[in-house]
Amino acid sequence: MAKQFSLLLSTVALSLCCIAFAFEPSPLQDFCVADASTSARVNGLACKTTASVQASDFLFSGLHMPADTKNPFGATVTPVTVTQLPGLNTLGIALARIDYAPKGVIVPHSHPRASEIITVLEGSLEVGFVTSNPENRHITKTLHKGDVFVFPIGLLHYQRNVGDGYAVSISGLSSQNPGVITATNAIFGSKPDITSDILAKSFQVDQSIVENLQGKF
Ligand code: MN
Repeated sequence: MAKQFSLLLSTVALSLCCIAFAFEPSPLQDFCVADASTSARVNGLACKTTASVQASDFLFSGLHMPADTKNPFGATVTPVTVTQLPGLNTLGIALARIDYAPKGVIVPHSHPRASEIITVLEGSLEVGFVTSNPENRHITKTLHKGDVFVFPIGLLHYQRNVGDGYAVSISGLSSQNPGVITATNAIFGSKPDITSDILAKSFQVDQSIVENLQGKF
């Protein structure tokens, strides 16, 4: 009985540990402004000395500016991650503005290290995400100005402008470095290629169709 209880306890402890490790660790100091000049390797970037930290290390300007959406997808992401804002280092958060031309699409992608909470500032967006196997449930909604939606960490998701004019959204992300895996790029645009016969079998299509897609990405 005691043995069973200790097994139960260790199972609970193990699951708690793994839940905690699924997210970025809590900071051990007030801040750790990223020092791009050092090659020291830590989980995140090394910290600048406190004395050298400036207010500007915590500032990013210009997110009110619409981005150019003249690209094949009709949508542009302006990220504010630790790369653009060194003061985010170790804090476990980031932000992005997204501009959409009419019918513009943020193509299916996932963030390996972050959940994403999105709010619509202008226009209307069709959004959705797909749950993991075996259900692969497609959860979708049309969002209007002021609506807030969440894409859970790691799940494939997308957005499309379904309004008449331009649309703007802001996303908060639960990592200083959320990462992006774009489904098409990962599958058809890897370097080197995933062998086309593997993809032909995966997609149950002729190899020439796969090679055509590999040529596009
Ligand atoms: Mn996203």
